[in-house]
Amino acid sequence: METLVRTLKDNRCKITPQRLAVYHVLKDNKNHPNAEAIFKMLEPSYPTISLATVYKSLELFADLGLIQVINLGENSFRYDPNPQIHPHIICTKCNKVEDLSEDYFKDLVSTVASIANYTITKQHLSFYGLCPACNSH
Ligand SMILES: [Zn+2]
Ligand SMILES: [Zn+2]
Repeated sequence: METLVRTLKDNRCKITPQRLAVYHVLKDNKNHPNAEAIFKMLEPSYPTISLATVYKSLELFADLGLIQVINLGENSFRYDPNPQIHPHIICTKCNKVEDLSEDYFKDLVSTVASIANYTITKQHLSFYGLCPACNSH
């Protein structure tokens, strides 16, 4: 939470209870929720919050590098509290999105960099399949 307050202050952004709440809800969430899901989680405790406020807060946090937006080709973006690039695994049945440790893929990035002779600044790596719960049905 301290990082958030400091970053908002450094960038002369207003610190509002609603902004803090949006960040807090996402920070503790491992499910890569979309804005609507975050809105629904906040609504009971923040009856005056609007979906637009949630969107704007998420956009701001992404611009400030506090979170990351993930586009999985769905009709809404997902939000990830981890701003570091890391691979995801997605269940094609229940649409669950999970993190994969980037440790396994460090070699892949350096291999690509040396094959292509590029400095890699960004990558998007996703795996798709059936999660254990969906697999057992
Ligand atoms: Zn599943
Ligand atoms: Zn993630």
